[in-house]
Amino acid sequence: MTDDTDHTGSCFCGEVQYRLRRDPMIVHACHCRDCRKQTGGPYAINALIERSEVEVIAGEPVRHEQKTGSGKPHDIWRCDECGSAVWSDYGRREVMVFIRVATLDDPERCPPDLHIFTRSALSFTKIPAEARQFRVFYDMQAEWPAESLVRFDALGTRRLGAA
Ligand SMILES: [Zn+2]
Ligand SMILES: [Zn+2]
Repeated sequence: MTDDTDHTGSCFCGEVQYRLRRDPMIVHACHCRDCRKQTGGPYAINALIERSEVEVIAGEPVRHEQKTGSGKPHDIWRCDECGSAVWSDYGRREVMVFIRVATLDDPERCPPDLHIFTRSALSFTKIPAEARQFRVFYDMQAEWPAESLVRFDALGTRRLGAA
C-alpha cells in the first residue's frame, strides 16, 4: 500500500463525498450483532484512518449518537439526505474514524485484513479460510503492521481493546 493514493467515496445519493488521502491503517470486517443491525448487512467493513486524512469534498455528514452496551459513545456519521452511514467513530476518539468500506467508490481496494467477532458470524457468511479471524477481538501489537502502529500511536489516543 502506498500513501499517495486517493480513495474516493460517497453516500448513496452523492450529497456527501469524501476522499481518503492515505491508505487506511487497517480494515476490519466486524460480524457483531450491532454492526449487522446498524448496516443491515451480514457484517460491517470498516477502514480505520486518521480523521485528518479524510477530506470531505461535498456535503456535510451529520453525527448520529448510538446507544451502546458498553456505555462508550459510538457516533455514526450519515448523509442528512439519504441516511447512508459513511463512517463511525467508536469511542468518540475524534482523531480517527472507521470508514464504511462499502461507501468507497472502489471497495475492492480495501479488503478486510481481519475478521472480528466471528463468534457471532452468520452461518451463511463465508469467511475465507486463509483470513485472519478472531472470535472476539485481537491484540493490536501482534496484528497491526508496524507502520500502522506508528500512525495510530501518533494520534495519542488509547489503543483498541476488546469491546
Ligand atoms: Zn446521501
Ligand atoms: Zn461490530
